[in-house]
Amino acid sequence: MLAVAYGLKSHSKRRRSVKTPGGHTKIHYSRFKQGVSKCGVCGIPLNGIVSGSKSEKSVERPYGGYLCHNCLESLIKLIVRT
Ligand SMILES: [Zn+2]
Repeated sequence: MLAVAYGLKSHSKRRRSVKTPGGHTKIHYSRFKQGVSKCGVCGIPLNGIVSGSKSEKSVERPYGGYLCHNCLESLIKLIVRT
């Protein structure tokens, strides 16, 4: 309802006010820039993850594309030892 009240097309897109040659101010909509995938625990950027097709967004192991190899190793050790 908020989007309707303000006359906005979308809240999931970035809005930019642009002045047209006719003197009017229009809103231009653009997609948000996709960020780099980071580890869910330590926050370092993940290796081998590219923003492309579905297979490029993950690596083939448990928690691939979510945890880095160091955090996954310590998680597995923690689970095995407890
Ligand atoms: Zn990590």
